Amino acid sequence: MGGATQAPTPDVAALAAAVAEGNRRALARAITLVESSRADHRDDADRLLDALMPRTGGAVRVGISGAPGVGKSTFIEAFGLFLLGLGRRPAVLAIDPSSPLTGGSILGDKTRMERLARDERAFIRPSPASGTLGGVARRTREAGLLCEAAGFDVVVVETVGVGQSETAVADMVDLLVLLLPPGGGDELQGIKKGIVELADIVVVNKADGDLAAAASRAAAEYRAAIHMLRPARAGWTPPVLQVSALHERGLDGVWAEIGRLRETLGEARLRAHRARQAVAWMWREIEGGLRAELLADRRTSPILPGLEAGVAEGRLSPVAAARQVLGAFLGRRPPEA
Ligand code: GDP
Repeated sequence: MGGATQAPTPDVAALAAAVAEGNRRALARAITLVESSRADHRDDADRLLDALMPRTGGAVRVGISGAPGVGKSTFIEAFGLFLLGLGRRPAVLAIDPSSPLTGGSILGDKTRMERLARDERAFIRPSPASGTLGGVARRTREAGLLCEAAGFDVVVVETVGVGQSETAVADMVDLLVLLLPPGGGDELQGIKKGIVELADIVVVNKADGDLAAAASRAAAEYRAAIHMLRPARAGWTPPVLQVSALHERGLDGVWAEIGRLRETLGEARLRAHRARQAVAWMWREIEGGLRAELLADRRTSPILPGLEAGVAEGRLSPVAAARQVLGAFLGRRPPEA
């Protein structure tokens, strides 16, 4: 891995060593480094990640998604504490594409997950404060690798159940847990089918008190509905569980299903899944990098606005415009009009 970049500079080497020792402050600094948009920081971040890559891959990577208010933070805190009780070391990250607008709706509020945040054996990191979904996803992916290098063995990535961010999370985790409210039928109408189809484990939260009966009805309805959907994975029907995050009940069942799924997949399929994710990530980086180059390049940046306008007004076909841009970038003469 290290062959592609220069040898680590002393500072990066020291930071890598501190992260590898499991130092949480070093880990926080390392994540700040990979989140930086400065070019020289990026070089250091690449070297840091290169140095730590051999230490990654050891965690169970779990995505957790659900609509605002369903109980994600309550669940993740309870689940994190449950995992600590098992002797595991959870790290919690977030992808929140809405955070630039709302000032951070997930994990942004310091009071969320206070008990878990206070525990030395856990690590919590809010969503990167700004950027496109792609940028936020990349930084979260890298933060996850750094957490693994620091010895955290369950990496939980939280996202708001609104659509695209689920896909981004599904692209970086081993499995996705979808939290649903105890409302049932009508609620299901409002939940995007695509999100349910990404889920590996469905969890009806708030199965307690007055909501217990509704939760159990909802679970039955979700179970019936899931049989109508395309399964996300061959050989696995997403189980529907009931939990009370508030009363910390049912968490062992969720952990057991995560274990059962991993067993069902087996080492080879899990490795293949992660390999596909890594290669897809490489291509997204290439595409993103090329796009940035095209926007900055002196041959292409001046012609882009005119071509975009032409495409928008229907005077120019998108394919012809794209070929013209690529041709200019590669120093070829534009194709005959
Ligand atoms: P998030 O927006 O998905 O992170 O949801 P929160 O974790 O902030 O929870 C939203 C509300 O639901 C809060 O008032 C929680 O106390 C409540 N809540 C969360 N989990 C449960 C639960 O298991 N049972 C009940 N009754 N309420 C819950």
